Amino acid sequence: MAVSQKADMERGPMPDAAPGLDYDVLIIGAGISGMYQLHLLRRLGLKVRVFEAGTGVGGTWYWNRYPGARFDSESWSYGYSFDQELLDEWDWTEHFSPQPVTERYLNRFADKFDLRRDIAFQARVAAAHYDDAGRFWTLTLEDGSRHTARFLVTAVGPLSAPTYPRLPGLGDFKGEAWHTGLWPKHTVDFTGKRVAVIGTGASAVQAIPEIAKTAGHLTVFQRRPNWCTPLHNAPIDRAEMAEIRSRYPQIFERCRETAACFVHTADQRGTFEVSEEEREAFWEKRYAEPGFGIWQGNFRDVLIDRAANALLSDFVARKIRQRVTDPAVADKLIPKDHGFGTRRVPQETGYYETFNRPNVELVSILDTPIQRITATGLETSTGAFDFDMIVYATGFDAITGSLDRIDIRGAGGRALKDRWKGDLSTCLGMLVDGFPNLFMVMGPHTALGNIPRSIEYNVEWIAGLLDHMTGRGLSVAEPRPQAVAEWTAFVKKKGEGLLSNEVDSWMTGVNSNVDGKQVRIIARYSGTAPEYRQWCDAVAQGGYRELDLA
Ligand code: NAP
Repeated sequence: MAVSQKADMERGPMPDAAPGLDYDVLIIGAGISGMYQLHLLRRLGLKVRVFEAGTGVGGTWYWNRYPGARFDSESWSYGYSFDQELLDEWDWTEHFSPQPVTERYLNRFADKFDLRRDIAFQARVAAAHYDDAGRFWTLTLEDGSRHTARFLVTAVGPLSAPTYPRLPGLGDFKGEAWHTGLWPKHTVDFTGKRVAVIGTGASAVQAIPEIAKTAGHLTVFQRRPNWCTPLHNAPIDRAEMAEIRSRYPQIFERCRETAACFVHTADQRGTFEVSEEEREAFWEKRYAEPGFGIWQGNFRDVLIDRAANALLSDFVARKIRQRVTDPAVADKLIPKDHGFGTRRVPQETGYYETFNRPNVELVSILDTPIQRITATGLETSTGAFDFDMIVYATGFDAITGSLDRIDIRGAGGRALKDRWKGDLSTCLGMLVDGFPNLFMVMGPHTALGNIPRSIEYNVEWIAGLLDHMTGRGLSVAEPRPQAVAEWTAFVKKKGEGLLSNEVDSWMTGVNSNVDGKQVRIIARYSGTAPEYRQWCDAVAQGGYRELDLA
């Protein structure tokens, strides 16, 4: 939906919810998605309630407050784009915003649009059941309270269900233990302590250099190494912020045009269409630039052509070897089981140099697996390690995990989890047949990329559908099985030939710590965001013929 259309959606005072129901719409989650959805649906005049498990707003940026947590997308491409006033009044302080600033930004957003009055905090949703006869949803919170509404929007995020390793003795450790995705609000002091970090994904790669600065001794337990590239963060002063602000229209236009909504976009040349010198110079330039350019702005074939990918991987491996003093440690840090960019590339600030510090040790648990957590630390196949603190940077049950943790039951009492067993399918990543009036922001098979850009589109599309329905007195929406089949077939087609789909990662739905998630699936949409929006726009402009509306 075009931004200009949104003003047309304002409808004046809120009516009472449908007779007998508490609300018109229930939203799960008060992160970037849930807050914007609340804002737009209120403007439609709907009675909305948001349930949020945390004590504050922010979602990802509320929970992931580990040291070093910051954007990997340029700050000025990441914020909400829809409100000129917000763009005018908010100053980003760094090109890649640190978590505390982002949390402040999202709180400012909540304040500006007076969102808190419709958000219940510390309200974790346990179940969401659809009532076939009454055609409404009932949410049951963990405290047992129940809330009803015609429509349900899940805004739970694709990376928000933290997972711990499945190891014996997990609860036995007597020291401090933290998960990066559930980091406490109080300051965690590493000074002089013996700290273990388990995991080397994007969260760990941000946290490790920070922890190493003050820890007495840091031991990093790495299973499979990732290909990491420099973030090149820098502060933004007032003059630069004014210059960025003057370019907002172009920045967001650019994000609308690129494949994954980043400011970076693939170079149209093939890896082998340039000379070796040109190629090296191009990669050197990309490696020295801020952000995801080396991943998202590389030669067009590096993520599909094995030979091209091998060359690029070799380039990044050389960089790692140059930055890590001990060749044996460098070798451990270089991935052998997947090529560059085929898993999500962690962006780092001094990550590799951290392993040159005398107080940092790298343990490859591919060589010496962790066997158990103990009261004083952990045991690998070679012996016991004692720690004061264990940091689990072991990731999330991604994409469907945060939905799986809620007992969501649609028509006929069928569980969403069962609906997706062996067959992940959706309509546009936002709707599922058999689950009337359930709308998902950032559901499986939606466009991800630079997430707020994709969120804004999803939220506006859902608001557009609800506007269409309420304006016509319609109260039930369910995608036709044919529409689900067509979208799912398109998603699968778009995944063909991608090297990333041949690798275990959260992007292929694999998590060794979750039952039933050991087999790779097409878990995410890999086409371009413009193609995605074209599909969704066509459905809306065609009057939602792909949905059964009643
Ligand atoms: P992750 O990428 O899934 O990494 C989890 C790490 O834990 C991996 O190294 C994994 O090893 C390891 N691990 C998992 N289970 C283990 C076990 N049982 N024993 C030993 N090691 C284990 O998770 P994440 O780092 O939290 O990042 C997830 C995603 O969140 C990122 O890819 C990114 O999309 C997003 N994120 C974004 C930002 C940002 O924008 N700034 C920052 C952080 C995260 P294996 O690789 O062998 O499985």
